[in-house]
Amino acid sequence: MSAIRKIKRILTRQPVMEGAGVHLNRVFGYHEAPAFDPFLMLDDFRSDTPEHYLKGFPWHPHRGIETITYVLKGDVEHGDSLGNKGTISSGDVQWMTAGSGIVHQEMPKGDAKGSMHGFQLWANLPASQKMMPPKYRDITSDKIPEVHTRDGVRIKVIAGDVNGEKGPMDDVVIDPEFLDCTVPGKQTYTHDVDPGYTAFIYVIDGNGTTDGKGLGNGTLVLYGKGDYLTVTASDTPVRFLLLTGKPLKEPVAWRGPIVMNTQEELETAFQEYREGTFIKVD
Ligand code: FE
Repeated sequence: MSAIRKIKRILTRQPVMEGAGVHLNRVFGYHEAPAFDPFLMLDDFRSDTPEHYLKGFPWHPHRGIETITYVLKGDVEHGDSLGNKGTISSGDVQWMTAGSGIVHQEMPKGDAKGSMHGFQLWANLPASQKMMPPKYRDITSDKIPEVHTRDGVRIKVIAGDVNGEKGPMDDVVIDPEFLDCTVPGKQTYTHDVDPGYTAFIYVIDGNGTTDGKGLGNGTLVLYGKGDYLTVTASDTPVRFLLLTGKPLKEPVAWRGPIVMNTQEELETAFQEYREGTFIKVD
């Protein structure tokens, strides 16, 4: 018999300051991460005030993780130690596998009206792949398929497979699903999830319910075990990000932008960064 996933935890985003002085909302991070394995962090940066984001995230290192940036509004300019340089625009995704080490910068520029809205998700890498060569993928919005169900639910498939429609990110170790779902008013969306996988939703617009509890803009719901989850819209549509992934169940040693398995590996990473030997592939 298949079981519905019940709510394990509800979180509300908290304002934090990151980078060179960017105001953003942390949905979950360091303290909550153990419950979200294989995911480490989710930030929501939305602002209509350019001073709140223009200082950006100047050159900084990453090792041992993947960072996934999804932009809804405005532009983010980026550059990295692999020589990549470009702009992530509305609807685009940047999937960066830091692996053994990357140094990059991410500079939000907003749109013509000064608005900026995007997300950054951090996914952990297993011990066996933490030192893999870094990889970088720019996924423009036209490469992201949108599935329409009979009930009018629209699903942008960034990673995963919905009704046979595969997202462009299909070679990721933690086997993630990353969906951007819009459920029309009064309708319910049911999504099957591998019973052993971590699953959560983050509401980005509208209202609805899941497992009998109310959802609003900015609500994150982490689910317990089960085979499927359901989200029902209120009288008007609800839009949310749906993430699932295979837990790594490995020790986590995390300091700032570097996430390894042991304290010693962290020390090595920071020492290499100081000594200029951090980058293994450029
Ligand atoms: Fe970064």
